[in-house]
Formats: sequence, structure tokens, C-alpha cells
Amino acid sequence: MTIRTRLAVQFLGAASLVLGGAFIVVYVLTADYRKEQFMGRLHGRGAATAKLLIQVDEVDEQLLTKIEDDNPVRLPEEAIAVYDQDGREIFHLGAKTGPLPMDELERVRKVGELRDAVGERERVAFVFAAGEERFVVVVSGMDIYGRSKLRNQGRVMLVTFLIGQVLIFFIGRSFAKRSLAPLQRLAQDIEAISSTSLAQRVRTGSDHDELAQLARSFNTLLDELQTSFQTQKNFIANASHEMRTPLTAISGQLEVLTFKERSPEEYGTMIRSVLDDMRSLNRLADRLLLMAQAENKALVSTFVPVRLDEVCWQARADVQRSGPDRSVVIDMDGVEDEADVLVNGNEDLLRSLVVNLCENACKYSTDHQAVIRFRRIGHDLALEFADAGMGIAPEDHDRIFEPFYRVTNTGGARGHGIGLSLVRRIAELHGGRVRVESAPGQGARFTVQLPAAH
Ligand code: ADP
Repeated sequence: MTIRTRLAVQFLGAASLVLGGAFIVVYVLTADYRKEQFMGRLHGRGAATAKLLIQVDEVDEQLLTKIEDDNPVRLPEEAIAVYDQDGREIFHLGAKTGPLPMDELERVRKVGELRDAVGERERVAFVFAAGEERFVVVVSGMDIYGRSKLRNQGRVMLVTFLIGQVLIFFIGRSFAKRSLAPLQRLAQDIEAISSTSLAQRVRTGSDHDELAQLARSFNTLLDELQTSFQTQKNFIANASHEMRTPLTAISGQLEVLTFKERSPEEYGTMIRSVLDDMRSLNRLADRLLLMAQAENKALVSTFVPVRLDEVCWQARADVQRSGPDRSVVIDMDGVEDEADVLVNGNEDLLRSLVVNLCENACKYSTDHQAVIRFRRIGHDLALEFADAGMGIAPEDHDRIFEPFYRVTNTGGARGHGIGLSLVRRIAELHGGRVRVESAPGQGARFTVQLPAAH
């Protein structure tokens, strides 16, 4: 069932409930009113007849019958009976209804008045007192006119209700159609968008309603998708470019080797150069792998408490092993005990974060030294990586964290421009952040702030 039909049906249901309820209430009240009125008329007829019979001496049974026979206010199928103190029927007029049983007479005397109906014949029995004597008057009749009026009213109501149902359904459908038109337009616009046309946007219209809001949210989502799609495309292009460079160098060098016989020294130099390229390629592949790992938010659920001091000592060993002139100094004066250096995280990723920052500090400074300082900032643990190197111009402070971005003048240091973007992703995955303070020629200080485990 379409939303449009469902809305129309729901609208119809609600309207039927209200309309049907109102009609039923009106019908019941009218029926009650008719009954009340007819009973009142019966009572009036009975009282007038009993008055003539009992209180006017000149009127006897025959005269009263004669008078009443021609009475224009007689009710349809009317029957009037009057019973004396001993339960004898002293007067009867109109339709034969049979005498009232004794027990019923007693009941009337007890309660003063009784009203009932047998089929369509309605009856009022009441006590009529005259001096000491208590007569019982029983009047019955059929409200032919009132009932037919009521039946007619019921029929009119039913027909009105049915016609109303049909009208309400179509009006509901048309309203639903009008209200859902923007949704349909939105669906058409969305259908037209595919991965190759991510630049397209859906129409938001000029209204400020919920659907316009939905369209705007969808466009925001498309903005984000387009950006991440583009970033991914750039990333792949950059990664392939970075891989192709050492691969081309390796194959070039190996080709040159095949041209002619070389001296053992030349072979040695060439092989070392190829090895260098291979190592660089290997490092790039490692970092790309770590990058993919750091993208995986599900990894957070596997986090365990990690001692960052131990991570730093291991990273120090790695960095110093990668270059004999490199040194890493670890200063833990800013923290007091073991609990201060605990963070929840992934040890391999955290180690890679520390290694990358230390390698950069060593790589971009003439003394090839990195200093790691531990500090507490509120509930966070901050690690500072400082060097006395070439520094970074302020305009590059943000860009150096983008994948594959390298400052134009790196002083000949080799790299792929992926280390800092990896650092940032790892810090963010751990609920932290990284920032840089540096100026050209004045060294650099990278601060990684991570939420402490305690
Ligand atoms: P890579 O070092 O492989 O080029 P990174 O992403 O680690 O890639 O760094 C991006 C750029 O930031 C580097 O090319 C370099 O110019 C600059 N940079 C990073 N660390 C430092 C540092 N400690 N001192 C000076 N420049 C740095």
C-alpha cells in the first residue's frame, strides 16, 4: 500500500470515527427525546380522561366513550384503562390490550408510575388520586408518526455517512498527494544521483518544512560523500604515484645493470641503492596498511590499557636502529607514576605514532635528535615531540597533516608525506588530537594529547 493510500485510509478512519460517533449520539438522543415526548403525551391523555371520568359527576362511562371517540387528539392505536382501588377495570377505551395483572397494579401503586413497551406499543401506568381513592390509569399507544420520523432520520444519517466516507477518502487522498509531492520529487532527484554524478544535488524548495530539512540534510550528506570520494580518489592516485617512483627507479637501475658487465664495487653501489628503494617501498606499504587499520573505527572495541612509556622506549630503539646518528631522549618529569602514562589503545598503532614523530624530528634536524616529554593536561596525557631542526612555516601547519603533502624544501630528506596524516588518524582513533608549534629555523614541537585511562 502506498503512503498516499495509507494516509487516506487513516484519515478516513479518524473522520469516520468522529462522524459516525456524532451521528450515533444524535440518533440516540433523538430516539430518547421521541420516547420521552410520546410517554408524556400518553400520560397527558390518561390524566385528562381519568379527570373527566372521576371528577366530573355528569360524565359516565358511555358519555366519556362517546366524547373520546370523536376526540381529534386521540393517539394512534390508543388504549386507556382505569382501575379502581380494588383492581377492577372501571373504564376501557380503544384497542383491546387485556387487563393489567394484579401484581403489576400493585407495583404501580408502590412506585407511582411505570413506563414500558411491548414491541412498538408503548405504555404508561400511573396512580390517579381522587380524595381518598387511588385509581390506576393505564394508557398505551403506538407512536407511528414519531417512529417513522426517527427511521427516516436514521436513513438520512446513514446515507450521509456513506457519501461522507467516499468524499473523505478522496479528499484525504488528494491532501496526501499534495503533501507527499515534495517527497516524490526528492525520490526522483535521489534516483538520478549515482556515484558518477555525486556533484548533483536534490531540490530543497523554498519551504522550511520537514521535507525541505530532509532535502538539506541529504545534500549535506552528499557534500560529505563527494569530499570523501574525492579524497579517496586522490589518495589512491597519490599512493600509486608514490609506489611507482621507487619501482621505476628499481627497474631503471636493474636495466642499466644488464647493459654490460660491472665491477664488484659498482654492483655493490647499485644493489645498495636498489635496497634503499625497496626499504622505502616497504615503509610506504607498512604505513598504508597502518592507515587502513587506523581508519577502522571498530578497532576501538579491542583497545586495552597501554603503557605509553614502554611504547616510547620501544619506539626509541626502533628509531635509533634505523640510523646510527639518531637519538631519542625521553623526559618523564611531567608525570608522577605509572597510572599517569596509561591510555586505552592499540599498542602497534601507538608505537607507529611515536616512531613517525621521532623519525621526523631526527630527519628534519641537523643534530638528528628527538626529545619526548610526558605531561598531564587535566585528564589527558600529553606527549611532546620536540626537535631543534628546520621548523615549519605557519602556512604549512595544517597542510602537513594531509596525506602525501610534503613541504617543498625538506632539505633533501626523503619521505612520502604520509607519516603525519597517519599520526593524526591514530590520535583521533584514540579519542585524542595532535597539534604543531613551529617556526622556520626554530625547530618544531608536536603535541599529541590522548585521554588517560585513569
Ligand atoms: P614525510 O616526512 O614522509 O615527508 P610526513 O607526513 O611525516 O611525511 O610529514 C609531512 C611534512 O611535514 C614533511 O614533508 C616535512 O616537510 C614536514 N615535517 C614533519 N615533521 C617535521 C619536523 N619535525 N620538522 C620540520 N618539518 C617537518
